Formats: sequence, structure tokens, C-alpha cells
Amino acid sequence: MVIPDALTRAIREARHICVLTGAGVSAESGVPTFRDAMVGLWEKHDPHQLATRQGFAEDPKLVWGWYQWRRQLVLEVEPNPGHVALAELETLANRLTLITQNVDGLHQRAGSHEVIEFHGNLFVDRCFEKGNIVASSVQPAAEGEPPTCPSCGGFVRPGVVWFGEAIPEAALAGAFAAARDCDVYLSIGTSSEIDPAAGLFDIARSSGATTVEINRDVTGQTAHFDFVLSGKSGEVLPQLVESAYKQDL
Ligand code: NAD
Repeated sequence: MVIPDALTRAIREARHICVLTGAGVSAESGVPTFRDAMVGLWEKHDPHQLATRQGFAEDPKLVWGWYQWRRQLVLEVEPNPGHVALAELETLANRLTLITQNVDGLHQRAGSHEVIEFHGNLFVDRCFEKGNIVASSVQPAAEGEPPTCPSCGGFVRPGVVWFGEAIPEAALAGAFAAARDCDVYLSIGTSSEIDPAAGLFDIARSSGATTVEINRDVTGQTAHFDFVLSGKSGEVLPQLVESAYKQDL
């Protein structure tokens, strides 16, 4: 892939790079995107049954089982060259804020430090009633059931943001501030259909940032980006970092 000189220069000279990643960045590690995760055992279920408060209240065992399956899947995979390139970019850039919609922790496992988890984390457990974090060492009373919260006795749920739930306040504030402040904005492996994450692009664009999309497919926002690098993030990102920091212009 040929990376345009103007983009190479914008990245190299950036004061603050803001990156938004989505499920596509983890696809090459073998983590299915949301749609691809609705397969096999889970095919017959509606996403709203597996990823809403109401679905959990109706059938905690089913929802907990789906998340246990996803956790196991993530534990069996490794960060891919796209994750690694973003961790390297953090060390090379003047300043970088990485906002992820992913809940798999693969950016941190690749070495990224400053990560804003917009949709929570698969490996953090919370009390379903009160939302406080519960130690993951707490064991369930019966096989297959969610554990119970040591302080209130209610069920424990995965610490991810379900459909209809608010984004954690600190994550939202940090992401909006970064989108407003950055001079380069990268949207990577996200279908950009879900607000408020999708709206970060508009904030960055109206603040005058150079905007870049990296995606295997066309999205609803593709036509509005300054630069579009079409391809797999695990292939495009290492080339982008190489061209911005390791080659003469
Ligand atoms: P999405 O599934 O809606 O979109 C994924 C995007 O990535 C698509 O545009 C697809 O064309 C693109 N893509 C797929 N493989 C790619 C690759 N190798 N390189 C570049 N692009 C690629 O994902 P989303 O926008 O993140 O939204 C779905 C929601 O589901 C998110 O909110 C997220 O929290 C959740 N989710 C997270 C994980 C995870 O943590 N890994 C996995 C599934 C779903």
C-alpha cells in the first residue's frame, strides 16, 4: 500500500493523535466482531437478549454463559500486528489517546498504556444492582450461574456497556476532550454506526483535525474522511507507523 506523503507528514508532525478502534482491529487475532459472535450455540439468540439489562434479568445464566464463552475465546488469542503498531505509535507520537470500543483488553496486552475503554472490559465483574466492581475470584454458588456480589447478594454481571446503557462518564469526557484537542484523528476497524463513539469523528473534523479511516470495508462515514486506507488494520497500521517514523520523506 502506498501511504500518501501528506498523511505521513501529518502523523509525524502531529501534536496529539486521537485513535478510535472497533471490533475490526481484533478480528485478525481471531476475536469475532459482534455479528460474527452470534454463531454456533448463540445463533438462535437475539443480541438484545445477550447484551441488555433486561436480557440478563430474564436469564442471567444464559447471558453469563455467553460472556464466559467470549472471555475464554479472548484468553486463547494474542494481540495482532495492528495492536502492536498502535502500542508503538504511542511511544513514537508526541501524544496519543487511544479510545477503544473493544472489551477484550488486547490493546493493553500489546503494550498500549493510555487506553480509554469506551464500552468497559470483559474481564471486569460488576454487581448487577449497584454497579460496583466485584473481585473476579468470587465463585458462583452453582455451576454455570453468575457469582453473587459479596456485599448485596445480587448477581454479578460482566463489566461491559450493554445496549441502552450509558458510557462511563470518565471515558466519555476523556474521549470528547481528546477528539476536540487532536490534530490527527484515526478511526480503525469500526463500522461507525453506534453513537456516541461514531460522533467523535464529527467532533475531531469540526475541530480541524486531519481525519483518517482504516477499514477493510466501506462505512457510512468513509466519504467524509480526508484519507481512507482500505485494508486490514493488521497490515495497514505497521506500514503507516513505518512510513511516518522510520522512512525519510
Ligand atoms: P462492528 O462489528 O460494528 O464493525 C467492525 C468493523 O471492522 C467493520 O466496519 C468491518 O468492516 C471492519 N473490519 C473487520 N475486520 C477488519 C480488519 N481486519 N481490519 C480493518 N477493519 C476490519 O464493530 P464496532 O464498530 O466495534 O461496534 C460493535 C460493538 O461490539 C462495539 O461497541 C464493541 O464494544 C462490541 N464488540 C467488541 C469486541 C471486542 O472487544 N473485540 C468484539 C465484538 C463486539
